[in-house]
Amino acid sequence: MPWVRQEDCTGCGDCIEECPVGAISMIDEKADIDMEECIRCAICHDICPEEAVRHDSETVPVEIETNVIRTKKSMKACASHFGNPEEAQKCLKRWIKHYNREKTIAEKTMAEIQSLQETS
Ligand code: SF4
Ligand code: SF4
Repeated sequence: MPWVRQEDCTGCGDCIEECPVGAISMIDEKADIDMEECIRCAICHDICPEEAVRHDSETVPVEIETNVIRTKKSMKACASHFGNPEEAQKCLKRWIKHYNREKTIAEKTMAEIQSLQETS
């Protein structure tokens, strides 16, 4: 999935013109991709003169950090809300369940869509 590095986008609009499904719009003079509409064709990535459209693998470390921060924040809030430090561990268990579920969905989706690959 592509994403736009905002600091590199000059707002030229080239990607908006070239996107075959109209998934890109301009917000505050920066390109913004609607991930629900994007068909992952990579045209925007290839034509951006500023290399502002990036591969999503680059965001993995940031997303991990965001998840860890969110989990820690929830643990703290649970302990504070219930007035009991043990609630933080219960909260952590729920987050672990949540990420396990996400992992299962990703793994099962991969298993299903890999069968779509053509063998030659
Ligand atoms: S082509 Fe690149 S620089 Fe131009 S609007 Fe799109 S993302 Fe921004
Ligand atoms: S990858 Fe293709 S469909 Fe997605 S935003 Fe870029 S040009 Fe549009």
